[in-house]
Amino acid sequence: MSVGVLALQGDFREHATVLRSLGSEVTLVRRPEELAGVTGLVIPGGESSVMDKLTRLFGLAEPLRVAVAAGLPVYGTCAGLIMLADTVLDGIRGQQSIGGLDISVRRNAFGSQTASFETDLDIPVLGETPVHAVFIRAPVVESVGPLATSLATVADGRCVAVEQGNLLGTSFHPEITGEYRFHEYFLRKVRSAAFRG
Ligand code: GLN
Repeated sequence: MSVGVLALQGDFREHATVLRSLGSEVTLVRRPEELAGVTGLVIPGGESSVMDKLTRLFGLAEPLRVAVAAGLPVYGTCAGLIMLADTVLDGIRGQQSIGGLDISVRRNAFGSQTASFETDLDIPVLGETPVHAVFIRAPVVESVGPLATSLATVADGRCVAVEQGNLLGTSFHPEITGEYRFHEYFLRKVRSAAFRG
């Protein structure tokens, strides 16, 4: 059982390190053949407009859509969340997403690089200890459709984490803070999806 990390751009190495320390085998995914062999996929943080162009260039966009529709567990952080959103607001001209999450996401919603910040979030599905969350030019989930569920909000009530079936997305970056509970939560989805076949 190998979990993929989309490795075209962004902080894929950090995700691979977290997944390996949780006992997973990791495949860095850059080609459709690599995607075909994984039981789950993490889409890292980075720059969603570049990731979008590269997934199309590498012939991965359509296979990714097919995999998401078939129920592949996918976890997206920050730019990865944008890639999983059905609707992207403030994208660059022509920007596309893979989609799957019934949400609309606004890019760079907290402002420019200097507006990056850290905060503690209550996320009941992960237990009582708050999650220390780092936001870097982060998107916000502006609307959550009926198929998706909000898992966390910042103090002003804006949504920053969602799930929908086998899909999970966060505006922030657990992979850089030693916070492993999101990856554990995701790996439980991967295991039960593999178990169901
Ligand atoms: N602002 C970036 C984008 O639009 C996301 C930033 C990140 O992944 N840390 O893709």
